[in-house]
Amino acid sequence: MSNVSVCVRFRPLNARESLQASGASCIRQLDNECVMFKDEKDQEETTFTFDRIFYEDSFQADVFDFVALPIVRDAMNAINGTVLTYGQTGAGKTHSMEGPSIQTNDPKLKGILPRVTQIIFDLIERADEAAEFLIKLSMVEIYMEKIRDLLDTKKDNLQVKENKLHGIFVAGVTEKYVQSEKEMLQILQTGLANRAVGQTLMNCESSRSHCVFLLTIQQSDIEDRSIKTGKIYLVDLAGSEKVEKTGAEGKLLCEAKTINKSLSALGNVINALTSDKPCHVPYRDSKLTRILQDSLGGNSRTALLCCCSPSTLHASETLSTLRFGTRAKLIKNKPRVNSERGRHELESLLQKSYQECDQLRAQ
Ligand code: ADP
Ligand code: MG
Repeated sequence: MSNVSVCVRFRPLNARESLQASGASCIRQLDNECVMFKDEKDQEETTFTFDRIFYEDSFQADVFDFVALPIVRDAMNAINGTVLTYGQTGAGKTHSMEGPSIQTNDPKLKGILPRVTQIIFDLIERADEAAEFLIKLSMVEIYMEKIRDLLDTKKDNLQVKENKLHGIFVAGVTEKYVQSEKEMLQILQTGLANRAVGQTLMNCESSRSHCVFLLTIQQSDIEDRSIKTGKIYLVDLAGSEKVEKTGAEGKLLCEAKTINKSLSALGNVINALTSDKPCHVPYRDSKLTRILQDSLGGNSRTALLCCCSPSTLHASETLSTLRFGTRAKLIKNKPRVNSERGRHELESLLQKSYQECDQLRAQ
């Protein structure tokens, strides 16, 4: 059993927050695991504790090292992993996941996804010669409860299926085999350009959909023909803010409600998983929770990065994000190694059963 690791990242104040609220902050830094939240209305102070808290001056490299690196290392050893970014629009989810752009030239600004890409190919380079690797990439966005394939936009309503061989999977999704870091970044760039982008008052560049990247790392041993498979889901969730604040109307309002529906389904799944009494976990209530079924309470090592603004202007959203993260800390997962038995192992099992048969006959 392993708990979901939950980290919080506060981004620097933006120009509007510095001007309008004179740079007032709703948090006080205690240390790198504890933060104090100050409620302006009732002057109450609450301390929140997480696996790690990154403040305004944090580096992308440190966020990657703590949040994603252990997951990538495990995935190279056939243990599934998931990294989720959660928080209101403009809180720094995409900045953390991708950086200013996926192909940024500034190595300091690279987000989690380009760093994951880099480390995977570095590790492959250094791996045992008997190991052969296959890397596959899929990208989808969940928009208005429909799964769109970002690598083939004609596929705009894919379904989630489950079977014994593959577990949970998006049926018919495009899987691109990737051979180098450069190729992976190019494919990611193409896929990201296919996202549906909406405009709200809070952040005109923000996407109103959940973006799910899936990397599959398949490792075969040339000698004993064993196959090990590790999957990494990287998920940049849509904004968690309440609908009224976004100034959305008409289609955008409908959109915001649908997005909040899948996020509230995520909340309900987390509540069910962390409730004192055993209860039904409503994974099937949304496409998002269905895809993330293994990541939440199942066969995966999972990290959640909660992104927040430190400004008093966004205090209520920040508080709700901190509460969401606190709940998620209680989720227990059961990661295991996904491997098919190799020749040596099968031969020794067969040998053992022959011996047992011989012993039985001899009796
Ligand atoms: P979200 O994806 O949560 O809507 P973004 O990642 O797009 O938010 O961030 C909103 C803005 O804040 C962007 O202009 C981004 O560059 C900036 N930003 C976010 N986090 C940081 C950070 N840690 N350091 C510097 N700028 C940041
Ligand atoms: Mg974003």
